[in-house]
Amino acid sequence: MAQLLRSQPQGLCCPNGGFFIDPVRPVERALITHGHADHARAGHGAVLATRETLDIMEIRYGSGFAGSMQEARFGETIRINDVEVTFHPAGHVLGSAQICVEAKGTRIVASGDYKRSSDPTCAPFEPIPCDVFITEATFALPVFTHPQASHEIGQLLKSVGQFPERTHIVGAYTLGKAQRVIALLREAGHNEPIYIHGALAKLCDYYESAGVPLGILEPATMEERGAAPPPGSIVVAPPAAIDDRWSRRFADPLACFASGWMRIRQRVRQRGVELPLIISDHADWEELTQTIKDTGAGEVWVTHGREEALVRWCELNGIAAKPLHLAGYEDEAE
Ligand SMILES: [Zn+2]
Repeated sequence: MAQLLRSQPQGLCCPNGGFFIDPVRPVERALITHGHADHARAGHGAVLATRETLDIMEIRYGSGFAGSMQEARFGETIRINDVEVTFHPAGHVLGSAQICVEAKGTRIVASGDYKRSSDPTCAPFEPIPCDVFITEATFALPVFTHPQASHEIGQLLKSVGQFPERTHIVGAYTLGKAQRVIALLREAGHNEPIYIHGALAKLCDYYESAGVPLGILEPATMEERGAAPPPGSIVVAPPAAIDDRWSRRFADPLACFASGWMRIRQRVRQRGVELPLIISDHADWEELTQTIKDTGAGEVWVTHGREEALVRWCELNGIAAKPLHLAGYEDEAE
């Protein structure tokens, strides 16, 4: 099975197919699971990815981000040399995919980043039966149990009700998390305009065009059209902006941060977050272990995060496991 996919400095390599999955350095042929910058880099010869991931890469890197592009549809098998590859939804961000690689009766699924909890902005994760399951381990410790995202959004709306004179500034990663927070606010019945930092505009527009309704969004700038968000507004911005000078322009800003890391009090304090929202686009411990069981894999390879705990859990449950030690991928720091 190590013949079908193996770890190399550029990333996960399929020698028979002549491709890499989510390579961290430029390669001739790359298969990309999703648009986050540590997985989707510019400069490859040929890129195979879902339509949404290709579009997101173009938005971020410009039209010349790769020599050539090919769209992979969910469930459609594509032959590359003597290897068959199929993309399946990963439930992580819009367009995110697991990549199933199959040859000579062996099937390996590289899941990229994924989660199992519901997300109105992307297709839900589908467990794919396989021999080897390659999993991330961002939150692979039993202490990580993510609450329902709707509960966290309820906390945000409760705070807006309690402090109607303050501007709630929600730090959220620009691809995926920001749009999910907005869509969850809409699901919870919040129909007021939501103000967004300029860094989110293009991706929010793209989500809308891809069929993810986000409601009325206004630019969160004092300069443009002179309309400051009225007191009690919700502003969504990249995490770096919440404790920046940028946020101080708003009426009595209240710093919120939507991240799985908000489970850790020390991180909440470090970032000066007043209202932590535990909303993650990565699987928590329960989801990771359940997913491994769901795939029925006899062997698990663990990529980035807390590999040791998950490898140990697999061994205790009679599943062969090893860390892949792939470099270049980040903790939920898209
Ligand atoms: Zn990601």
